[in-house]
Amino acid sequence: MVMGEVPEEVDIAVIGGGVGGYTAAIRAAELGKSVALIEKEKLGGHCLNYACIPSKTLIHISNIAYDAMHSQKFGINAENVTVDARKMLEWRMGVSEKLERGVAFLCKQNKIDVLKGAATFIEKNRIQVTDGTEVIFKNAIIATGSVPSALKGMEFNGRNIIDYKQALMMDRIPKSMAIIGAGYVSVEIGTLYAKLGSNVSIIARSDVLSKFDREAVSIIKSRMQGIGIKIYANAEVKAYSGEKLMLGSGDTVDAEIVVVAVGLSPYTDGMSLDTAGVELDNKGFIRVNEKLQTSNPDIYAIGDVIGEPMLAHKSMRQGVVAAEAAAGLGSTYNNLVIPAVIFSDPEIAIAGSVEETNGIKVKKFPLSALGRAIALDSTSGFAKIAYDSENVVTGIEVVSPDANAMIAEAALAIEMGATLEDIADTIHPHPTYSESIKEVAEAALGRPIHFFYG
Ligand SMILES: Cc1cc2nc3c(=O)[nH]c(=O)nc-3n(C[C@H](O)[C@H](O)[C@H](O)COP(=O)(O)OP(=O)(O)OC[C@H]3O[C@@H](n4cnc5c(N)ncnc54)[C@H](O)[C@@H]3O)c2cc1C
Repeated sequence: MVMGEVPEEVDIAVIGGGVGGYTAAIRAAELGKSVALIEKEKLGGHCLNYACIPSKTLIHISNIAYDAMHSQKFGINAENVTVDARKMLEWRMGVSEKLERGVAFLCKQNKIDVLKGAATFIEKNRIQVTDGTEVIFKNAIIATGSVPSALKGMEFNGRNIIDYKQALMMDRIPKSMAIIGAGYVSVEIGTLYAKLGSNVSIIARSDVLSKFDREAVSIIKSRMQGIGIKIYANAEVKAYSGEKLMLGSGDTVDAEIVVVAVGLSPYTDGMSLDTAGVELDNKGFIRVNEKLQTSNPDIYAIGDVIGEPMLAHKSMRQGVVAAEAAAGLGSTYNNLVIPAVIFSDPEIAIAGSVEETNGIKVKKFPLSALGRAIALDSTSGFAKIAYDSENVVTGIEVVSPDANAMIAEAALAIEMGATLEDIADTIHPHPTYSESIKEVAEAALGRPIHFFYG
């Protein structure tokens, strides 16, 4: 603040203009609150600028290139398919810029004051922004997200040891790429670069997607291997030099570029949370209650900075809840499921759990029995449904093309307490992959149509 300047007073100050933060700001403004949204970098945060949107943009482009080169069985013979990596990057950056401008437009229309700078608490109800503004608030919502976790001995150097952000901003396709880490980020980045022609290796401390259903993962792994990705399971990195990564096993892996993707860490640097009376848990996440209030009841926190799962749609939902709670509507964050999608090949999407446990049964329907999957030569996959003794659906998993678009049905069904009958008797359009969810519900009821269970 310039000496003598009056601090800005608002009902709600939102720190962090990512998907969680801007959603909270818009919802608060809709409720008639005066709102300041403080962002130190780019509106849209990691999701729009560095993570979700860029990765899915590049995955789409890699699929076009790969399919063009591998569609002879459909009678398509494309010769000399080449990828112009600079042009690809131009498109990917253009998408983020367009979305960032869209968020700025929405903020403007909702009369949200966007402040460009980093926020630090200087009192329990005051923020200093690096642009010089001081903000006094009735309520604050912290939505500062996460940053790529570092790996000791493999420090990011911005050149050949890089994080996911840089991996999604390359203007060339490296000859070889080793990805350390085997979560969904590694699978998505590895698959896309392999399809673009890189020689990709994945170095997993245990195994690829170790927290996911093994039956789903085995389909993904065999596809990854089919497109040339080498997977080193139970592996440990020893050293990196001369474009070679040395593993504890003695294996040597070609790696012009090493991507370290070993997870995301909550980001609260430089915020002086102790001044605001906001406490962290032992992993560095901000602690919140069901209303998303921190240990300072006037301050809320949402998104990646409060813990797993670190997913954009979770942040957005929490943004709505926190804004409504701060505006006095009494909203609580009580969703039953947070669907998750891995944009692998084929995609894995899950809502709830499909683990067979006490009182929970699970049924599976294979894509090999689905008309659309046969037509499109994508029969490696399935739909699984989990249900209780009263046929109430508790989980659905789909391993399939378009799984991303199908899983919202599953989330809605579970949130509404739908039964197997509700799903089986709902007309699903034909021929679509979504029919696999209906088919598996019918099978669980003992009345399968397109698969003979014997
Ligand atoms: C490669 C990759 C792909 C992903 N794909 C998906 C996907 O397909 N679907 C999905 O749901 N999730 C995906 N995610 C996860 C998703 O990106 C995050 O869950 C999401 O971005 C979290 O949103 P957020 O609002 O909590 O934080 P962020 O989007 O990280 O936003 C936080 C913002 O706060 C700002 N900030 C931080 N500190 C301050 C400060 N002191 N003052 C002012 N501003 C500050 C930052 O600059 C940033 O813009 C992916 C992640 C990665 C790494």
